[in-house]
Amino acid sequence: MTWLSGLLPDPMEPRSGVRNVPEVTGPGCIFCAIADGEAEASAVHTDERVVAFMDIRPVVRGHLLVVPRRHAIGLADLDPDDGAHMFRVAQRMAAAIRRSDLHCEGINLFLADGQAAGQTIFHVHLHVLPRHPGDGFRVQLDPRFPSRSELDATARRVRETLA
Ligand code: AMP
Ligand code: ZN
Repeated sequence: MTWLSGLLPDPMEPRSGVRNVPEVTGPGCIFCAIADGEAEASAVHTDERVVAFMDIRPVVRGHLLVVPRRHAIGLADLDPDDGAHMFRVAQRMAAAIRRSDLHCEGINLFLADGQAAGQTIFHVHLHVLPRHPGDGFRVQLDPRFPSRSELDATARRVRETLA
């Protein structure tokens, strides 16, 4: 999936002499600035934990983002209660979009955790993507066909590190 790139400063640019560490928080984070009301956004919902606003480069009409107010880069440092609320609000956004006149027949939720996953803004956020047939949005999937034993072995590797 191709997401916005090149239009905003590269968040992986080294800062303050720290190399390969994404921006942490503060004035350089556009989503912190939006949450603090210091940068403009087309808000749909705000509460004490999250803000939801229209994506500035929508890949489909109605594409919006749900963003925890408290800065976290990704899933590893996201407060689980913020994460749960982010999902709860995304669910409400999806219901509102379906009720709206945006001609929505389906919804995708998408979260990019890390640069390899396509994350470009290093303040965790959940994309809400209204879908309808012929909207041109595509996720290219190239499934593999592993044996059951390979699936079991992979499951074991993940189980071993479950906290
Ligand atoms: P991701 O690639 O998952 O990190 O997505 C970042 C998203 O943030 C992209 O879809 C951008 O279009 C969106 N975005 C970046 N800056 C802004 C902004 N100022 N207001 C709204 N959306 C933004
Ligand atoms: Zn931030």
